[in-house]
Amino acid sequence: MKTASILGVHFHAVTMQQAVELAMTRLRARQKGYVVTPNPEIVDLCCRDSEYMGIVNRATLVLPDGIGIIYAAKILGEELYGKVAGVEFAEHLVAAMAKENMRLYLLGAKPGVAEQAGAKLCAKYPGLVLAGTHDGYFTDAQEAVDAINSCGGADVVFVCLGAPKQEKFIAENMDEIHATLFCGLGGSLDVFAGVSKRAPDIFIKLGLEWFYRLLKQPSRIGRMMKLPKFLLIVIRERLFGRKGNNQS
Ligand code: UDP
Repeated sequence: MKTASILGVHFHAVTMQQAVELAMTRLRARQKGYVVTPNPEIVDLCCRDSEYMGIVNRATLVLPDGIGIIYAAKILGEELYGKVAGVEFAEHLVAAMAKENMRLYLLGAKPGVAEQAGAKLCAKYPGLVLAGTHDGYFTDAQEAVDAINSCGGADVVFVCLGAPKQEKFIAENMDEIHATLFCGLGGSLDVFAGVSKRAPDIFIKLGLEWFYRLLKQPSRIGRMMKLPKFLLIVIRERLFGRKGNNQS
């Protein structure tokens, strides 16, 4: 699969449809793996944590979540086929799973949210089997592992604990969990449950979802200021190469 390297993170150049097809092929063959959806914040974390970078780069699919990654690819002259947002990938995957009565486990978010997300997804995609749910505020990872295994496992587990916790949880525990594909999806369960809403389509089309989220939740400003900084680092990489990129 063709990849686009952005500050050392190797994104897969796939369309949404290709990403879902690839995931479904692996699910049918019961080939274990995981999907990560890095945004600029995750790329920044990877640059500071080589163990985390390794986990992200060993994923079956590394999908470009967010317009910042697409801008970065353009600046670096790397080819990506557009944004494949984690939450959108998740919904397309659920739609495909439902047609084959596959089992989904939802792990993450505040108590009650995963159940609500599961109920909404099952109502929208008949045929989907909700294997179980667990909130994301456990103190011992074994508790979550046992919860998934005790309900008979699943085809897919959505792991929504925020980054880097979710990717590290997957890497450390996937061998012990009876499931085929693990997807690290940040705040997606909040979106599926209706707890947090995505931006109206017009914002998404214009690449301004980040701006809508900022208007709704001004406290995100600290996190968002990382985007211009990320793009500056990318421009510096373009102009001067990788040397000294990670120090600022
Ligand atoms: N979360 C969790 N356990 C934790 C920390 C966070 O389940 O220990 C959940 C949190 O409730 C939220 C998600 O992880 O649902 C992270 O959301 P965030 O907005 O940070 O992710 P993003 O989509 O921006 O990557």
